[in-house]
Amino acid sequence: MKQIFLSAQKTLSVTLNILLSPCCPVCRDQIAYSEGICSDCFKKIPPASSPIKTHDNYTSIIWSCVPYEGTIRKCLHELKYRANYQMNLTFFEILRRLPVKKMFIESQANIIIPVPMHRDRYKERGFNQTILFSKFLSTLSGIHLGQECLTRIHPSRPQTGLSRPERINNITKNIFSVPYPDRVKNKNIVLVDDILTTGTTLKSCAEVLLDSGARSVYGFTIAKTM
Ligand SMILES: [Zn+2]
Repeated sequence: MKQIFLSAQKTLSVTLNILLSPCCPVCRDQIAYSEGICSDCFKKIPPASSPIKTHDNYTSIIWSCVPYEGTIRKCLHELKYRANYQMNLTFFEILRRLPVKKMFIESQANIIIPVPMHRDRYKERGFNQTILFSKFLSTLSGIHLGQECLTRIHPSRPQTGLSRPERINNITKNIFSVPYPDRVKNKNIVLVDDILTTGTTLKSCAEVLLDSGARSVYGFTIAKTM
């Protein structure tokens, strides 16, 4: 029943967007169909010509485009919880500002893998935003997208509204699996997620990929909580 309601809600949202001119989800000004948010709001996203870098024990490095705040928080919320696909235009622009191809080639990356969503969550939402971002990164870098290389075998509760210790406990071990180890063996992998918070999700994915023979794992997120 919930799925039928969500599906109807999405259809209604898409129909209204076609019938009415879209408006900027941040300031509500009218925008063109070719825009995700208005140019004034876009200017408020910190310009990132180089990524924010985070180091941990499992990933070689984690690149993040921008701090998770203000406008970018609203854009991610619009995409994830309101299925506002206009936001993809904004995310593509943000990714385009980074020297993605140079970063990935210098790191000898072979394959881009989105952090997978459990199939129940995928059915509910209808899309996985990390696949969308990974496709953009594959287009910009020319590096192969391998979304079949990692699967989520156990669901986790949504992270939103949880405290930091609760978020870490929410991601348990062994919730990801590598169905085709030969496809990741000796590969340098770029793992893609939307937000870097505690780093526990990327760590869980990196662990299982390295255990399956990956040579190295890099992380890439749109935003990072500061
Ligand atoms: Zn605006």
